[in-house]
Amino acid sequence: MSALSMSRLPTTGGPVRLAGLAILVAGAVLPLLPGVPEFWITLLNAVGLSALVAMGLVVLTGVGGLTSFGQAAFCGFGAYTTAVLSTVHGVSPWLTLVAALLLTGAAALLLGLLTVRLSGHYLPLGTMAWGISLFYLFGNLDALGRHDGISGIPPLSVAGHALYDGRSVYYVIWGIVALAALATVRLLDSRVGRTIRALRGGVLAAEASGVDTARAKLVAFVYAALLAAVSGWLFAHVQRAVNPTPFGLNAGIEYLFMAVVGGVSHIGGAVLGAGLVLLLKDQLQVVLPWLFGGSGNYESIVFGGLLVLLLQHARGGLWPLAARLLPAPAAPVVDPAAEPLPRRSVPERGGPLLEIDDLQKSFGGLAAVRNVGFSVAAGEIVGLIGPNGAGKSTTFNLITGVLRPSGGRVRLLGSGIGGLPARAVARRGVARSFQHVKLLPEMSVLDNVMLGAHLRGRAGVLRAVLRLDRAEEARLRREAALQLERCGLGDSLHRPAGTLALGQSRIVEIARALCLDPLLLLLDEPAAGLRHAEKQALAALLRRLREEGTTILLVEHDMDFVMGLVDRLVVMEFGARIAEGVPADIRNDPAVLDAYLGGIE
Ligand code: ADP
Ligand code: MG
Repeated sequence: MSALSMSRLPTTGGPVRLAGLAILVAGAVLPLLPGVPEFWITLLNAVGLSALVAMGLVVLTGVGGLTSFGQAAFCGFGAYTTAVLSTVHGVSPWLTLVAALLLTGAAALLLGLLTVRLSGHYLPLGTMAWGISLFYLFGNLDALGRHDGISGIPPLSVAGHALYDGRSVYYVIWGIVALAALATVRLLDSRVGRTIRALRGGVLAAEASGVDTARAKLVAFVYAALLAAVSGWLFAHVQRAVNPTPFGLNAGIEYLFMAVVGGVSHIGGAVLGAGLVLLLKDQLQVVLPWLFGGSGNYESIVFGGLLVLLLQHARGGLWPLAARLLPAPAAPVVDPAAEPLPRRSVPERGGPLLEIDDLQKSFGGLAAVRNVGFSVAAGEIVGLIGPNGAGKSTTFNLITGVLRPSGGRVRLLGSGIGGLPARAVARRGVARSFQHVKLLPEMSVLDNVMLGAHLRGRAGVLRAVLRLDRAEEARLRREAALQLERCGLGDSLHRPAGTLALGQSRIVEIARALCLDPLLLLLDEPAAGLRHAEKQALAALLRRLREEGTTILLVEHDMDFVMGLVDRLVVMEFGARIAEGVPADIRNDPAVLDAYLGGIE
């Protein structure tokens, strides 16, 4: 099987690896060298602290597409939790870390529930709103020392040694940055990570694969907040004092700025962005007063200008430029020996699978679907045809839970599914493709299709971060590769989905739908954009699926394609069903001929 045996070998860049190693070694010995000024150590420590927050933004904003200006407030949660517990209650700093994570996690969950539902620009505005509120909360609570804050925070200690100076705490900070980077890489390369990545493709396709997108947003939100809390906790013990200033909206904007400058969807970009911004800010504070004289706050102005320039000339931030020097990441290996996923039991052929009665949907005054009723038996291929605007796609959306019916019933194997959310319908075994293809163009074809197998895996965040999900991931990946192979795309697994022709992307959507192991497959114009030979291959695939027990309902415009393939046809016009029968009868049905006269065919 070519798809399965195909797995690119990891590229090894000898000199690059050496350079990487050199940077690591230099980083490790730097604080030990007596000639290195304290200033550099302080700066590097600050970079590490900021990189933690920016890394959270990589997950939340860069990968998940949810922009937050409020991350500094979560640093504040971490910092104040440990400040209060360690000064007032004398709790050891390492224990307060647990408290900081719990408290921030709870706060993020609450704020996330309120915020991530917001869409478009309301979301960043929402994060600004609570970013500002929390800043004032920190500054007005007596228990938190109001605007003076809390001082006298003990330093961290490791094995009985108190880390008073920057050089010793340097290792703790960068050790934590390394751990956070590892956890983040693992999270993003997992079943949960796929759901966060899928958010960018719009919620429809993800929900149709059974993904709870609200949950995926919350996971990203809480994860980013926890990284910010760790940063704040560290900050409190490095500074030994906290006050509200570093946790306000300005800081929140700066973190986002770092993430964007670095290249907001790359973990390396978080470190690069934090480093560049802090270094630049520091240097500008020296250079600008010297250039312009006086003590004005010029650096913010220059900064704004630089950001505009960057956004115009390097939208992806600076990491992609740096990454050119790195070897290309190896494509994931498809393991042909991974254990096959369990399959659903197939209903008895010929029994009723989908029954639709008196289905209604109106958009304002427009009755897009009116009194539509038909049924599909297990093992059939049924075609739904009709002129443009007849209500075919709307009918699909009503069956698959994308839209709520205004009236009528939809039953699958006898139980009602009308009005259920899309992911609940998916869970019952209904998979679909979209008339307007919904793939993630930057993600590989294989990863796109693996999303379809979401419901057949179970691993969550913890298993992902601990890497206990590898066996399951291998099974999901094998399934996706098999479905792609079956659909004739076995040689395109590792291509970005955005490089495919439109016709091929439709086939990728079919492979993704097949990964759900569906009882019923709904295909909205699957052959549009395909060449003749590709259409024949598609027809052969659909026939094979029927033989294997999958039931198919499809919308199609190409009459030759439909007539030779389907068992029965349902014809719609102006939202109503006007005919139903075998292709030979439909071809001569006066109502159908009438509907199509001067129509699209
Ligand atoms: P078909 O797939 O048969 O070409 P559709 O189901 O897409 O037709 O559309 C049926 C009718 O409903 C069209 O007039 C269309 O403009 C309208 N329609 C579809 N979706 C919406 C929507 N979300 N809001 C308003 N009108 C819609
Ligand atoms: Mg349509």
